[in-house]
Amino acid sequence: MLKTSGLIGLLTLVLATHADEPALPSAHVHGQATLTVAVEGKALEIHLDSAAMNLLGFEHRANSQAEKRRLTALRKELDDVQQRLQLQGGQCRLREQWTNIGERFEPGSDEHRDGAHRDIEARYRFHCERPSTLRGLRTDLLSKYPALSSLSVQWLVGGRQGALTLDNSRDNVSFR
Ligand SMILES: [Zn+2]
Repeated sequence: MLKTSGLIGLLTLVLATHADEPALPSAHVHGQATLTVAVEGKALEIHLDSAAMNLLGFEHRANSQAEKRRLTALRKELDDVQQRLQLQGGQCRLREQWTNIGERFEPGSDEHRDGAHRDIEARYRFHCERPSTLRGLRTDLLSKYPALSSLSVQWLVGGRQGALTLDNSRDNVSFR
């Protein structure tokens, strides 16, 4: 499992101190997801948190063959970081990635929470050779997953920070 480096915690703290910013949409809401991006030095961390319904199409443990196939497919999709998250500039390479799919959705996992809503979490850690040249990122999450209608993005890059919401009319974030 990818250890939390503290970068994202720092970002959450920084954003939370801005009273005029909308509250971080951390609650489980179908149709919505959050993407958190933080850079410190040459380390870049991205966290995706989404209601499982948006990406997987169900929120229980996979039972049927079709659900198991969907799990396997989603795991591959989230592993395909080049397609899901296209970083612009920075010369960043993926170092580590992790999702909670195996822990939460495989048959036999997490027996005590059946019936509850569940989130998909994906964590990515990059090493950026030239972090000062990082300009932004583009994501295909909204076009790839039609059940996902809005993606709230919070970022902290090179001492700058911002928050915005992507939807079907916008798929890119500028860190400037
Ligand atoms: Zn749900």
